[in-house]
Formats: sequence, structure tokens, C-alpha cells
Amino acid sequence: MTSTVTSGELTGQLLIAGQAVDGSGAEIRGFDPNTGAELEPAYRYGDASHVDAACAAAADAFAEYRSAPAEKRAQFLEAIAERIEAVKDTLVARAHAESGLPEARLTGEVGRTTGQLRLFAAVVREGSWNGARIDPPLPDRAVPRPDIRQRFVPLGPVAVFGASNFPLAFSVAGGDTASALAAGCPVVVKGHDAHPGTSELVGRAITAAVADAGFPPGTFSLLFGDGPELGGALVKDPRVKAVGFTGSRTGGLALVAAAAARPEPIPVYAEMSSINPVFLLEGALATRAADLGREYVGSLTLGAGQFCTNPGLVIAIDGPDLDTFIAAARDALSASAPAAMLTPRIADTYRQGVDALAAEADLIARGSADNAPSVSCRSALFSTDAASLLGSEALQAEVFGASGLIVRCADIVEMQRVAAGIEGQLTATVQADDSDVEQAGALLPTLELKVGRILFNGWPTGVDVGHAMVHGGPFPATSDSRTTSVGSRAIERFLRPVCYQNAPKSLLPNAIADGNPDRLWRRIDGELTRD
Ligand code: NAP
Repeated sequence: MTSTVTSGELTGQLLIAGQAVDGSGAEIRGFDPNTGAELEPAYRYGDASHVDAACAAAADAFAEYRSAPAEKRAQFLEAIAERIEAVKDTLVARAHAESGLPEARLTGEVGRTTGQLRLFAAVVREGSWNGARIDPPLPDRAVPRPDIRQRFVPLGPVAVFGASNFPLAFSVAGGDTASALAAGCPVVVKGHDAHPGTSELVGRAITAAVADAGFPPGTFSLLFGDGPELGGALVKDPRVKAVGFTGSRTGGLALVAAAAARPEPIPVYAEMSSINPVFLLEGALATRAADLGREYVGSLTLGAGQFCTNPGLVIAIDGPDLDTFIAAARDALSASAPAAMLTPRIADTYRQGVDALAAEADLIARGSADNAPSVSCRSALFSTDAASLLGSEALQAEVFGASGLIVRCADIVEMQRVAAGIEGQLTATVQADDSDVEQAGALLPTLELKVGRILFNGWPTGVDVGHAMVHGGPFPATSDSRTTSVGSRAIERFLRPVCYQNAPKSLLPNAIADGNPDRLWRRIDGELTRD
């Protein structure tokens, strides 16, 4: 059955270019990790014909969508935010039932989702994303220079894979979708099986905003389906020009490989695995070891540890102060209650990860197992030494959930060696007092090359969405460390520069036209100006 999409309903259908369409494949349902109950309605996977329809519509929509005035695109992003807010209570209730995440956290996530849509609306209006540059002609130069102008254009339709651990802020209307739409790219989302109802509610909100704005319906579609099959077909579709993904290393690398193997390879921005090292420097440990131990466990166990920025690794110099840190962390962790995990598969993977750590590291403590939800995470804390960590893939692997590993180092040189020896990360945290500044300064050049964000005296969970944020980092944190998936620079992933040489003035786009009709900041002969 096919029907026009209306807001706020749950029908278990795919949303393709403004139409609600029945799937044809396997049936899935939302699942409540707290109670173990299956949720209504049933969703059926789409097939190759649905991928084809969504991609064809996205390709058809591209020319009109990308050439819409910036103000219209900005208002569209704001309208999506308003449409989401209009179903906020239903959305939070459904996301809570499907993810097990607390309602307060999900309410905050609605705010983050609408906040980032509005941030990108402001970015679109402000206009620097056009990257406008003009090198005026130099006809009298020994080698005359022609009139050369540059601006950014969107890549084309973008495939977005919703993440399981942020059912709102990193899913259907999350950062990837918002930044791609802001760039002028139609979006086809493959919804995550962990929250189909949440996905449908948000998908309907976007679909309604597309219709209100009068944009072509193919500007947005939402599909459900098997990852390798439907997701793979989406990435291989020649009309798709870029991919945004958050999830496992295996899934991300499969998409990178599929995209690279296409006759026309395309970029994949995959955010994958990170264990987010925390360096405890000597002065900080000497003055506040017990506080740091308790705070660490608070960050480690937040949201059952299901954050890409979860601090899975602590690195410190062995001694009585570290013992104090460990004793406080052990007490806090032993008292931590089991928390619901997003899906049974994620909980199984967590258990396997903890078993793998237990085989190679020393157990410090496990969290309580009493009154556990149906699908739950029992937190865990281990310790090891630097040589063991650097010699073991298992000890460096991401264990998605509330599991931490403390690395005892002999001295600062060994801490430096650990910093240099670990894989690429989203974040590194340095706990440092004034007396540690020199040691912290010595760590920085290594950390800069290893991570996307370096924090001092805080904890990495919690990512502010703004202009200066970087949520990225060298492999395996992401598949492309040159950019970010959070914050306004995320728009750059879906743009490319085009140069116009000696183009007739009448054909020049506004961004690089004479007289600067859109009042943009532009680089003219190297100087930034709004003239
Ligand atoms: P996932 O298994 O990587 O799945 C994410 C999305 O990608 C799903 O829609 C999935 O579809 C799809 N997918 C997976 N493999 C694919 C492939 N080969 N080709 C095409 N599409 C594919 O991630 P998840 O389900 O969210 O969680 C599983 C594990 O990922 C966790 O245990 C954790 O280790 C890791 N994870 C990490 C982060 C992070 O931020 N670092 C966040 C979330 C998860 P299907 O479900 O149909 O396969």
C-alpha cells in the first residue's frame, strides 16, 4: 500500500519521496530493552526496488534543492526542528521504549537534534560555507592571469546510516542528515533496526517539512532493511555521492570497501571505534586521586557506556596515588547498577568484549547484577601494564559499554610510549594540575596526531555542538580524519570546490558574482572582505 505521509503516525512503512510505502522483506519490530517486550507496529524491510525508487527521486530532487535560495533552505531546516518539537512527547516516549535510554536524556537529545538543525540553518544563512574566492584578472602580468573564481557546490544525494546509540541526534534527523541537507544534498536514510518507530516519527516530520517548503519530495527518504543487503545496495547506487555512518568498525569498513569498489568511488564518513584514553598526570593524581576515581566511573557508566566518547582507557604512573584512584573507582563501580543496553546484539558484543579483557587483564571490579533490565550492561573495570597493552589487539579493542581498563606505567616516558602506540581516537583527556603543565605540554604533540579532541580536566562524554567542535580523528576513530561529524564544519564533508575561469559575468552564481549580491564574506585576491 502507498499513501501520502502525515505527521505523528506509526504505520511501519518506508517513507520514499513523500509516500508511505509497504516493505516487502523480513519483519522487524521495536524492542524494549527494559522489559523485553516487542513493540507495535511491525516494519518490513525494503528491497532493491525501494532503494532504486529513493535514489531516483533523490537524484531528481538534487538540481532544484541545491539551487534554492539559502534563506529557503535555512527555513526548511528550522521547519524540520519545529515539526520534531511538535511530536516531542510521542517521540521521547517511543525512543525511551525502543532504546531503554532515560526519558530525561532523550528529551535532551531532542534539544540537541533541533539545536543542530537550527545551527545549520544559521550556517546556511551566514554563507561562508560557499567558500567564495575571486582572483581578479591580471592582463598586464608577464603571464596574464585570467578571471578565476571559486565556490563550493554540494556533492549530490547522500546515504545516511542512523546510529543505534543516539536514536535522535545521530539518527534520521541527526548531524549527518542536517549537515547534508544544509550543504544542498538530498538524503536517503537507512534507519537503524534498534529504533524503527522513532525513525518513522522523525522521518514523517522531515517529509512534512519537505512538502511545506515545496521542495521536490525526493529531497528525503527513509528506508528500513538489512545492512549488508539494502544498506550495501544504497552505497553502491550510482546516484549516491557520499555516505555518513556511525557504528561498528566492521560495518564502517564494509561500507568504505563497498564505496571504494564502485566504478565511481565515493567518500564514506564513517565514525567507528574509539577507546578515548584519559591521562592522569602526577600532580593531578597527588591532589585529587579519589575524586578523579569517582568522576571517572560516573563518565564510564553514563548511558551504560554506550557513547562513542566513553573513556575506556586510563593511563597513569603506578604508585600510591594511582592506588587511591583505583580504590575509589572500584568502590563506585561495584555500587553501579546494571543499565539497559540498546539491543540484545550490542549486549552480547559487550559481554564478549568483557570476556576478552578478562582473559588478558586483571579484574578490579564488576558492577552490581541485581535487578537487571532484560537486556543489560554490568559494568567492569580492569588493569594491566603498558607492555601488555601495547602488545595486545584485544586490550586496545573498543568494548562498547561500561568497561574500563587502567594502564599502570613505570614513568612518564612509558606514558608517552602508550600515547604514541595506541590507535587513532576521537578524544584524549588529560587530568593535569599547574605542576603538570610541562608533562602535559610534552604529551600534546603526540596527542594532536592521534585524536580529534583533546580535553583538559573534564570527561569526554558530552559533545557540544558548535563551530569549534571536532568529533572525528584518525583511523579507526573514523575513516576520514580530515573532518568532523559534529558541529558546523560537518557541512564540509558534502561539498566540493568548483573553479570558474573567464566565465561570462551573466552566468556567475551569486556567491561569486560581481557586486557581492548575497553580502558574503569572500576572499578577493587573498583578502577576506564583504565588499
Ligand atoms: P553496526 O552493527 O555497525 O550497525 C550500524 C548500521 O550499519 C546498521 O544500520 C547496520 O544494519 C548497518 N550495517 C552494519 N554492517 C553493515 C554492512 N556490512 N553493510 C551495510 N550496512 C551495514 O552498529 P550497531 O548496530 O549500532 O552496534 C553494533 C556495535 O557497533 C556495538 O556493539 C559497538 O561495538 C559499535 N558501535 C560503536 C559506536 C561508536 O560510536 N563508536 C556507536 C554504535 C555502535 P544492520 O543492523 O541491518 O546490520
